[in-house]
Parts: sequence; structure tokens; C-alpha cells
Amino acid sequence: MSPKVAIGKCSTYKTDEVYSIVKKNIDLLGGISAFIKSGEKILVKPNLLSASSPDAAVTTHPSVVRAVIRVLKEAGAYPFVGDSPGIGSAAKVAAKCGVLDVCKEEDVPLIELRQSVEVENPGGKTFKRLEIAKEALDVDGIINLPKLKTHTQMFMTLGVKNMFGCVVGKRKPQWHLAASSDREYFARMLVDLYRFFKPRLTILDGIVALEGEGPGKSGRPRGLGVILASQDAIALDRVVLEIVGAGVDDLFTCKVARDDDIGGTDIAGTQVLGEDIASVMVKDFVFPKVVDIGFPLPFNLHRHLKKHLTAKPYIDKKSCTLCSMCVDICPPSIMKKIKDAIEIDYDNCIRCFCCQEICPEGAITVKEGFLMKLLLQ
Ligand code: SF4
Ligand code: SF4
Repeated sequence: MSPKVAIGKCSTYKTDEVYSIVKKNIDLLGGISAFIKSGEKILVKPNLLSASSPDAAVTTHPSVVRAVIRVLKEAGAYPFVGDSPGIGSAAKVAAKCGVLDVCKEEDVPLIELRQSVEVENPGGKTFKRLEIAKEALDVDGIINLPKLKTHTQMFMTLGVKNMFGCVVGKRKPQWHLAASSDREYFARMLVDLYRFFKPRLTILDGIVALEGEGPGKSGRPRGLGVILASQDAIALDRVVLEIVGAGVDDLFTCKVARDDDIGGTDIAGTQVLGEDIASVMVKDFVFPKVVDIGFPLPFNLHRHLKKHLTAKPYIDKKSCTLCSMCVDICPPSIMKKIKDAIEIDYDNCIRCFCCQEICPEGAITVKEGFLMKLLLQ
């Protein structure tokens, strides 16, 4: 059966407007009763990346979370909200981004996804075992609420990647380490993880997206005025690529899904409901600057030239408050706080950009190596 993706135009975060578009999208897909039964315990999984104001467009907007909670309650379900940020608690991030207030006002619990368990994944294409948050298992279903954002390591973070929040925060750096040598390997894990959880619905907040050097505060908010919904996050991500002017090969998770014949990536075979893709397309969306070497080099030469070829994290000393959050999250532990500066050992930097993702000041940007700049001229 061909996947369905609903597109709704929504220009503001006004509570009523967002609710009506979320509801309309779900109705286009068959109504909430097609996905949720009365009495079910449903985890609402927004993107709670880091403690940021809703205007920074780093986290799923509280109005979208509120709309989904209301639709679930109307269906007789018991929603609760949860995530596992890379650093800090979900409660702390939710307090800053407005989601905690929504939980209090709507009288639903906010939970931390913190207990890591290993599970069998017989249906996985590559990963037959996964390490995930137990709290995300102890539910009847999940509604996935990604934010439309760029991502310097994985190109964009959309529906499929948002389920990475169901891996406990402290286990995430090891995945970034693995991804540094093979992004497709990381993407395969993300696709297997998404398919393991099979969220009942994915509802994407693209009202104000993040472009440039996302997914943290180094990115720039960009109004796109859309909310998308689908039962199939791979198909939804594919439609987003069309909207922002990218292709399947650009987004690692989409490429892996196509190459592994998992489905959802054939735009011609997707039923688009509501608005036409053409009516919401943008021509000048700014993608992240990460540049891969992309051609083979002997190992020693590769290591020697790496710092001049590849993009690297650069710290703006004026914006840095020396909070050390980047030092704490750096997977290979090659960042150090020295007196009044943060030092990076570029020879051993794996270019995962976790530091940039987590920096609360947007003080870390991506700079291309000078040799790569010359090569690209
Ligand atoms: S670069 Fe950012 S995360 Fe790192 S110490 Fe400075 S402000 Fe903190
Ligand atoms: S310095 Fe930043 S990009 Fe380099 S390994 Fe550490 S977290 Fe990753």
C-alpha cells in the first residue's frame, strides 16, 4: 500500500491554529481512531535537544505538543511526554522550551527516558539487537513529534532521526563515535530503531524550521509554515526533502531506506494529502556546511590532511561562556578547558559536531578546511 503524507499550511504557533491543522492532517490520514484506541497509554516524543527558548527553533514547539495531547485525550488515550536529551534532563529542557508548562496545563506527566535496556530486534535489517530506553517500551504506542532541522553530521534531523531520543542520553556519544567512521552505519541504526518502535504517527513541526548549521543554536530559524503528518516517517522525511529542495541521496536515513529496499522513499508512489508539495516548496533553504572528504586517501595521508580537508568545529571565544557542556559531551574526550578557553585536539576530532549541537550559546560554528575550500573553488 502506498504511504500517505498529509501537508497542512500553518503560519503561526497560535494554539487554535496549530490544533486545527494537526487535527485536519490526522483526519486526512483517516482520523485519530485509525491509530489510537481509547484507554491506551501513549508516549508523545518531541525533540527536546537542549534547553532553548521556543523561538530558537531547536525543539518541537509547545503549541504542537499541546495540540497532539488534546487530540489524544479526545480519543480517550492517556498521553504523557518524554525524551532523553544528550545532556541534562528532559525536565530541564522542557522547562526552558515551554513544554513543561504545556504538560502542567494539560495535566499530563513528563517523564525522563533514562533506563537503558538491550532488546532483540529480529526485524532489523542490520541491527538485530538495540539498546533503548525501557520507559519507551512500557507504553502502548508512540506519537513521534520531530522538528524540521538541519544537522551538521546527518544533513537533517526529521522523523526517523527523532526516534534517537529513545536511546538513553548517556549512550548516545558511542553512536556518534561509530558514525564518525561510517555515517551510513549510523543511519542504518536509526532506520532499524525507527522500525523497531514503529510510532503510530509522526507529526512534524515545520512552522518555523532550523536551517544552516543545525541542529543546535548555531542554526537559524526559518519560517516554512508547514505541519506534516504520516504513519510512515520515511515517506514523511522524503516529502520534506522535496519541500526544501534536497534529494534522497542527501539524507543518509532516506538513502539507506532506499538502498535496503525498506520503502517510503519513492515520491511518485506517495499519496500526498492536503496541500500540494509545490505550494509549500522553498528554493533557498540553507543546508549545513559539512563537507566529507568523499574520495579515498592512504590512511596516513588521510590523517595528516584531515584537519585541512574536512570541516571542523570552531569556537567563537567571545560567545563562549566556558560552561564545559561541549567538553562533557565530546565522544572521544578531546576537548579540554584550559584557563579561559576550550581547546580542541583537531588531530583526534572525529567531526561528530556533538559539541556544536549541545552548545547553549551557539558559540561553535563549522569551518571548512582550507584545502577543501581550494578544491571546491
Ligand atoms: S563552546 Fe559552548 S558549550 Fe563549549 S564551553 Fe563554550 S559556551 Fe559552553
Ligand atoms: S570536538 Fe566536537 S566535533 Fe570534535 S569530536 Fe569533540 S564533539 Fe565531536
